[in-house]
Amino acid sequence: MTKTLENLRAAFQKLYGREPRFFRAPGRVNLIGEHTDYNDGFVLPMAIEYETIVAAAVREDRKIRVRSVNLDEAGEIDLDAPEIVRRGSWLDFVEGVARILERRGAKLRGVDLLIESSVPSGAGLSSSAALEISVGLALTESSASPIDKIQLALIGQAAEHEFVGAKVGIMDQYVSALGRRHHALLIDCRSLEATQIPFAAQDAAIVICDSKVKHELADSEYNTRRAQCEEGVELLKEFLPGITKLRDVSVEDFAKYESKLPETIKKRCRHVVMENERTISAAKALKNNDLAEFGRLMWLSHASLRDDYEVSCRELDLLVEVAQKSRLVLGARMTGGGFGGSTVNLVPLEYVDEFTEKITTEYKQQTSIESAVYKTGAADGAGEMTF
Ligand code: ADP
Ligand code: MG
Repeated sequence: MTKTLENLRAAFQKLYGREPRFFRAPGRVNLIGEHTDYNDGFVLPMAIEYETIVAAAVREDRKIRVRSVNLDEAGEIDLDAPEIVRRGSWLDFVEGVARILERRGAKLRGVDLLIESSVPSGAGLSSSAALEISVGLALTESSASPIDKIQLALIGQAAEHEFVGAKVGIMDQYVSALGRRHHALLIDCRSLEATQIPFAAQDAAIVICDSKVKHELADSEYNTRRAQCEEGVELLKEFLPGITKLRDVSVEDFAKYESKLPETIKKRCRHVVMENERTISAAKALKNNDLAEFGRLMWLSHASLRDDYEVSCRELDLLVEVAQKSRLVLGARMTGGGFGGSTVNLVPLEYVDEFTEKITTEYKQQTSIESAVYKTGAADGAGEMTF
């Protein structure tokens, strides 16, 4: 048992006076396939080695008592009392998962929970999905009411929609639930079919650089982009009658008809059509252990997000530029919605330390901002921790 777990177990015993079981779910990073999800396209995330652990023991009643070590806050939910929706705190995630599980047929027992996470919160590594999935697993397993991982992911997403009020896609919960060590997960956001893509980590690591900035624009621009994609589909339908989403437009067809689109719509659609193609190619490259090709596609993805989709920002561009100039990485790009957040870098193992040093120093010099850097391989999705 690791030190973290020993401490968590000791804290649990002190708090609740019983012996817990432990459940975990990881955060995630998207390697490629950005702004493709709501266009019914492809994404290629992986689970990371930063995770949320839930210690749990059943109670005789139907109460969920829960404490977060990270926030040093506690709360209580009575499953037989009326639901509370969007109270505006982290308890929304816990309540949401519990209530949606029950609505979909699980009969939950009361539990005492103690939660501790190494996923940085708000860095774009989906601490929220890690929380939903680890809590969902703890609740169902403690109630001897197991559910499959895909259902668990969908319940996490529904909880975030309804109880938190965040209109998120399915990627985060999917990969947190279904991720596999040494694999990335290619997700078809239309069929929800997911394919494990081997990502042998003996040669390179993923290094995530958090720019620590978050520009105001993010939400409004996100909605604008979604609308622009829909407008593109409407315009292209005249020439391609069968399409419903940009996912349906091939690179060849797009080349044929792009001149019919207004300039801005054309750029937005070009990003999505090309990014879908890049994501499929990247999955193939990864499978073939062609990390150079994977890296090349990452650079292209960033350029496309910067120039065509216009969702990058000065800080993200700087992080990618420093990475490129350093010649220490195989590929780098912004990851997540944009206008701040993190970049993801594919770095040969022997350069990881040098790169980390370089990127933090140069970023600090040019922006006066202290970035945060996380090195990781591809981790397993959610599960019970056994010893
Ligand atoms: P991200 O998912 O990118 O980290 P979100 O804003 O979606 O950012 O989710 C962060 C929120 O999730 C936090 O503000 C908090 O409400 C909740 N959360 C995540 N991890 C924990 C934790 N260990 N304890 C309590 N709440 C957590
Ligand atoms: Mg989140």
